[in-house]
Amino acid sequence: MVLRAALLWLSEQRGIFSFIRGNRLARRFAARFVAGETVEAAVAALAELNAAGISASLDLLGESVTSAAEAGAARDTYRETLDRIRQTGADSNVSVKLTQMGLDLDERLCVENMRAIIAKARSYGSFVRIDMEQSAYTDTTLRLFRRTFHPEFGSTVGVVLQSYLRRTQQDLEEMIALGARVRLCKGAYKEPPDVAFPDKRDVDANYVRCMERLLERGNYPGIATHDTKIIAHAKDFARRGGVAPQRFEFQMLYGVRRDLQQGLRRAGYNVRVYVPFGSHWYPYLMRRLAERPANIAFLLGNVVRESLRRS
Ligand SMILES: Cc1cc2nc3c(=O)[nH]c(=O)nc-3n(C[C@H](O)[C@H](O)[C@H](O)COP(=O)(O)OP(=O)(O)OC[C@H]3O[C@@H](n4cnc5c(N)ncnc54)[C@H](O)[C@@H]3O)c2cc1C
Repeated sequence: MVLRAALLWLSEQRGIFSFIRGNRLARRFAARFVAGETVEAAVAALAELNAAGISASLDLLGESVTSAAEAGAARDTYRETLDRIRQTGADSNVSVKLTQMGLDLDERLCVENMRAIIAKARSYGSFVRIDMEQSAYTDTTLRLFRRTFHPEFGSTVGVVLQSYLRRTQQDLEEMIALGARVRLCKGAYKEPPDVAFPDKRDVDANYVRCMERLLERGNYPGIATHDTKIIAHAKDFARRGGVAPQRFEFQMLYGVRRDLQQGLRRAGYNVRVYVPFGSHWYPYLMRRLAERPANIAFLLGNVVRESLRRS
């Protein structure tokens, strides 16, 4: 718990990134979870996944931009990404963070940037998932989705709900009533106990409750987890309730539990992998370390091997 909190704190320290980015080992470790720094590298990574029958969602790394120019550049990269997906015929949509589109600077700017991305996705018959960030953004994200993006773009755009938040069951019912496409995840940020369940068992139990509701009533929900118990529960619940495998998809992160991704696909389930790319990989990587501190051992193991080779 303390280690998770420390890693999540580190994920928010911008100053450390410039040091880490220059570090060869950190870059090598990042390569396990990040498809590359450019659109071309990201699109190339899709080929292998798609060949195994796995869909993708491309995510340009970067959050909390500090200028309109930065937000505009991210918007343009997303539009270019949608073009490249279209040109290559890859099976992928995109995932976008509102703070990357300028939410902290000016809500209208963020909405305009998002409209430009979602309109392009719609013209290609593609889809835009709005990632969910820290709880300080939950209200605004859901409000913009409910009042602006969903009315304008319908099922071309979807949201994410996090089972660690105490409010999520209520949000979920609203989203189900709206017919919104929801991705359900546990939640990756450092949150206070009055906002998020501090005990992992409560997070997992809430996940299962929300997942069952989505399987029964949701619009093609994304079950985003690597938790094998929860995945087994989903399969069993769907089978018993007569929910066909085509009515939902499992979602996992690039580089995490590839065996599970492929096994589910071979068993006939829809699987989508979230594929991050770009140069701003530090906060993303730190959140992945926080989820599974054993990844630190993997990183340190590389450091030791590398230094032994040099000595
Ligand atoms: C497709 C997708 C999209 C997501 N989008 C969001 C989002 O918009 N907002 C948000 O807050 N969070 C998001 N997340 C992250 C999510 O909230 C969790 O932090 C993350 O998925 C780990 O939780 P878990 O459900 O896998 O369960 P856990 O209980 O954390 O893990 C279960 C098991 O999965 C494996 N595992 C999990 N994480 C790792 C890892 N990093 N490395 C290696 N093995 C691992 C381990 O075997 C672990 O025992 C997303 C996750 C996925 C899969």
